[in-house]
Amino acid sequence: MKEKYILVVDQGTTSSRAIIFNNKEEIVYKAQQELECLFPHDGWVEQNAIDIYASVLNVINDALLKTNLTYDDIDSLGITNQRETTIVWDKHTGMPVYNAIVWQSRQSAEICDSWKIHQEIVKSKTGLIINPYFSASKIRFILDNIPNGQKRAENGELLFGTVDTWLMYKLSRGNIFKTDYTNASRTMFFNINTLEYDDELLKIFNIPKCMLAEVYPSSNFFGNATALNENLKIRAVAGDQQAALFGQNCFEKGESKNTYGTGCFMLMNIGEKPIFSKSGLITTIACSYNEKVVYALEGSVFIGGACIQWLRDQMRMIKSAPESEKYATKVKNSDGVYVVPAFVGLGAPYWDDECRGAIFGITRGTTKEHFINATLNSIALQTLDVIDVMQKESKVKIETLKVDGGATTNNYLMQYQANILNAKVLLPNCLETTALGACFLAGLNSGFFKDIDEIKTIHQYKREFLPNMDESERKIIKEKWKKAIQATRVFK
Ligand code: ADP
Repeated sequence: MKEKYILVVDQGTTSSRAIIFNNKEEIVYKAQQELECLFPHDGWVEQNAIDIYASVLNVINDALLKTNLTYDDIDSLGITNQRETTIVWDKHTGMPVYNAIVWQSRQSAEICDSWKIHQEIVKSKTGLIINPYFSASKIRFILDNIPNGQKRAENGELLFGTVDTWLMYKLSRGNIFKTDYTNASRTMFFNINTLEYDDELLKIFNIPKCMLAEVYPSSNFFGNATALNENLKIRAVAGDQQAALFGQNCFEKGESKNTYGTGCFMLMNIGEKPIFSKSGLITTIACSYNEKVVYALEGSVFIGGACIQWLRDQMRMIKSAPESEKYATKVKNSDGVYVVPAFVGLGAPYWDDECRGAIFGITRGTTKEHFINATLNSIALQTLDVIDVMQKESKVKIETLKVDGGATTNNYLMQYQANILNAKVLLPNCLETTALGACFLAGLNSGFFKDIDEIKTIHQYKREFLPNMDESERKIIKEKWKKAIQATRVFK
């Protein structure tokens, strides 16, 4: 029989990608197109929703052309996407009524402030904290800022979707109006206990239910992408971080992954019962491969690899990100220097918007090498803070941390992470774990992959980092780091 492939669309904030996988988790081809972000005001981040769709069409075409494959060669299509980004469009014309409001955008901060009294109920139903990141306040913003927005929404003229929903709607010429649990769980009005949109929350936010897409499991037949080909079946949809958790084969309770990109995103599979964090983590729905719903605890660090960009572009200490490793390994350690890169405040578990970065422990002997070493350490130490609360709340000790993202190419950082966590750090062969997750989910639905055991056999790792730091040294570093964080938060 002719070999088949899975086509994955990975629609991210900085770019859209189409990746073609074979049945051995190998990338046959990757096409990529950068996307423009618009910054209409300080703290606002928007994108043109039509550009998002157009970029997806471009990369799919590019991938097929370059590989000389046709849609007959494609077993199914999987979609993974930047989460929370909000698009509202006209049901009759299919055209957006406002730019896509990107997850990072803070333009709905005031709306969120006015909802703060509902924090407890939001947390217990959605697992989230009230924050402009999530879609609810972005929808509210759009309905309040276009002519007759609320009325048109109530009359059923407007539809809301996260990027997955928007793409499926366009790819099916308006026939598919669906989303999946992982994306729905980021809206701030999806009840993760009942797996339904929550009427009480919708009432509080004044969002009409008729705007909302039907919700399905991530591995599911969503419909055909008829705008591309009558027979192209969409068989997976998942938010990027949850897709990465699945791509990393974190199928069992307690299994965790951390993505080291601009920021760090840490997710732990917590099994079939949600845990509602008391320490600043959020609870979300993970991808599952069978009928059972699986939950995850999530914590994000705002400045991860971004502090290496800062060393390069602002401090001008290095010429490229990989150079950070060369300098960091020229010294034994940071010689007591601690960098807290709270450039935009601190994320989980502190959620401190107001504090700013700080450096501690500098002496006459401090060199650029120590400084770079300390900056890399800060990525691992911030991750440690998230993992510490995750372990406490889940009551599971993380023995192995699966990693991905651009900064995992830094061996020094990965070794330091293993040392400071006193856990194994595991680097997969295929670093495109987000797309890989969507590939696995689609393939499980179509039968391209027989079952989860087949996926476990296919999935390979290329490197592991084992801890080799004395407990006494680890203890001192952790104590000093704690003090550095405390001091940073005092200085406001
Ligand atoms: P994103 O998906 O957020 O755009 P990527 O996964 O592409 O991020 O990773 C890019 C980030 O990784 C940048 O912030 C960059 O500074 C960092 N990075 C890339 N290579 C290295 C390296 N060798 N050492 C440390 N950081 C690195």
